[in-house]
Amino acid sequence: MVEVLISAEQIQKRVDELARKIMADYDHQPVTIVGVLTGSLLFLADLMRRLELPLRIALIQASSYRGTSTTAGELHVQMDLLPDLSGRHVLVLDDILDTGQTLAHLKVELEAMKPASLKFGVLLRKIGRQELHLEPDYIGFEIPDKFVIGYGLDYNDEYRNLPYIGVLQP
Ligand code: 5GP
Ligand code: MG
Repeated sequence: MVEVLISAEQIQKRVDELARKIMADYDHQPVTIVGVLTGSLLFLADLMRRLELPLRIALIQASSYRGTSTTAGELHVQMDLLPDLSGRHVLVLDDILDTGQTLAHLKVELEAMKPASLKFGVLLRKIGRQELHLEPDYIGFEIPDKFVIGYGLDYNDEYRNLPYIGVLQP
């Protein structure tokens, strides 16, 4: 059983708001969005089609295996798919900011590629979980410290297709 935490309607409304903010901030400048696979897929797809900006999309894969456990596992990042980002305005999109390990790591790696600017957007931020300081530029929703699924987020690779964010009930 899944308890709905954030409905599909709430997500779509918030993605609209974020898109408007991003367009205003970048003001017609070309942007490269770097989506962090696999969790950001739905967020990326919904957000990018609302952005009236000269846009490129790049993807990287980051995974830290942990099931529903809240302790982060070892982080694996696959950046082979990335194009040259030097001189580009880069906006990294991820599904959720938890400990901050993933985005802090990506920040170091991507800054080394000398982008013109580097920003971070997350659909969700878990309250009280950050161990590494990284303040995202765009945040969809702040959520309590619960394991969530849906809208790209998985439990053992399932549930990513749910159009809402939910909490799995035992
Ligand atoms: P961090 O590196 O910030 O600790 O964790 C970020 C990654 O952990 C996210 O991109 C996501 O893949 C995974 N993660 C963290 N919390 C949750 C959660 O509640 N549900 C799911 N499905 N994944 C999570
Ligand atoms: Mg992830």
